[in-house]
Amino acid sequence: MERAVFLDRDGTINEEMGYVNHLDRFVLLPGAVAAIRSINASGLKAVVVTNQSGAARGYFPVAFIDRVHEKMLRLFSEEGAFLDGIYICSHGPPSADPEAGCDCRKPRPGLLLQAARDLNLDLSGSYVVGDRFQDVEMAREAGARAVLVLTGYGRGELQFVGPASPVKPDFVAADLPQAVEWILADLRIRGAER
Ligand SMILES: [Mg+2]
Ligand SMILES: [Zn+2]
Repeated sequence: MERAVFLDRDGTINEEMGYVNHLDRFVLLPGAVAAIRSINASGLKAVVVTNQSGAARGYFPVAFIDRVHEKMLRLFSEEGAFLDGIYICSHGPPSADPEAGCDCRKPRPGLLLQAARDLNLDLSGSYVVGDRFQDVEMAREAGARAVLVLTGYGRGELQFVGPASPVKPDFVAADLPQAVEWILADLRIRGAER
């Protein structure tokens, strides 16, 4: 079985903009592509898992999410990075959407479970990187390790959400490059223990 690094999108790979409802609002964070290239080189799968409720809220059509991801993949490939998968929850939160209760909206683990089936992943050997405690909670639900990044909503999450959260990240990183550095070191430690 393979291991993966699951990457949240907004606030982790690209700047948190509220809703990315125009291609101009997709702006990569510094070092993000190099970090993904490091994941690619390590043999770990790189998989994006993202909540995009803006479609369900009527802020943009569902097809627009694909346009944003085409741009993301183009920017990645220009610098030699790639993804092994992109998993999207386009449903709204329970309060705003009749499709309430989908099992793929973070913090629920549906996207991770789907990716694990598709890509033959060992989730207990995998990692989630995100800027929200919902990313940490999703990781826990699936038995994966979690890194909280301080980009995007990360600082506020750590200060205001973290103290009351029943789940804690395994590591808090300044940004995605530092998160990947920690993950690769953690993998070496786990490899040595086996
Ligand atoms: Mg995020
Ligand atoms: Zn969903």
